Amino acid sequence: MRQPLVAGNWKMNGSRDSVKALLDGLKAGISTVTTAEVAVCCPHAYLADVQASLSGSAIAWGGQDVSIHDSGAYTGETAGSMLTDFGAKFVIIGHSERRQYHGETDQQVAEKFSAARKNGLIPLFCIGETLEEREGGVMEQVIARQVDAVIEHCGIAMLGEGVIAYEPVWAIGTGVTASPEQAQEVHAFIRARIAEKDATVAEKIQILYGGSMNPANAAELMAQMDIDGGLIGGASLKPDDFLAVCTAANR
Ligand code: PEP
Repeated sequence: MRQPLVAGNWKMNGSRDSVKALLDGLKAGISTVTTAEVAVCCPHAYLADVQASLSGSAIAWGGQDVSIHDSGAYTGETAGSMLTDFGAKFVIIGHSERRQYHGETDQQVAEKFSAARKNGLIPLFCIGETLEEREGGVMEQVIARQVDAVIEHCGIAMLGEGVIAYEPVWAIGTGVTASPEQAQEVHAFIRARIAEKDATVAEKIQILYGGSMNPANAAELMAQMDIDGGLIGGASLKPDDFLAVCTAANR
């Protein structure tokens, strides 16, 4: 039985004051609402605040990207060791916004997966098709290509040490959610693709859904057989909404 995981992706939002208010709200409600593992992925500038607030709580935290390098002349980047220095457990990699606005390729995402593992971080490895790709009938090829890139670079065993987040690009931040059936179909495809290499890894790996998940649609999505939780953007910025999504993840 896979434990559900609900992870918030705050993206580039917040201030020290709003981070404090959000975390206070989450900590006040979390223990009573869910049996899922819960995490927040914050802007790196707030890692110290998040660590100070969440240490000893039931909520884990993580970063939103990681460098493939250990250290050196890479202005603006964050090394995996810097994230773990602040107690991070997770790191988002390959988010569609990084693929889209920063030109991250499947190969670079695979290298980031390996850099995360080298530093003991659990990658939240994002994949997903654009609307054009879905409508053009190449959705499965795109998903397979994204997954295979990590398997080829890191090996199937290392893939199994991460978490996959299926995030259809057309559903991120748009208010349009994949239907439970649409999401389940892709999650089952991802699991089957992994099973071709290793059935045990396929059975064990958590596959989260992301894309406009909110309190109104979370329960139905997370009731699907192959959906093991959510990566939550907009709704993770409001304590009541995020806690409601966490409640919906109860199995
Ligand atoms: C995300 O950014 O990972 C995401 C799923 O965003 P939203 O929930 O806002 O669609």
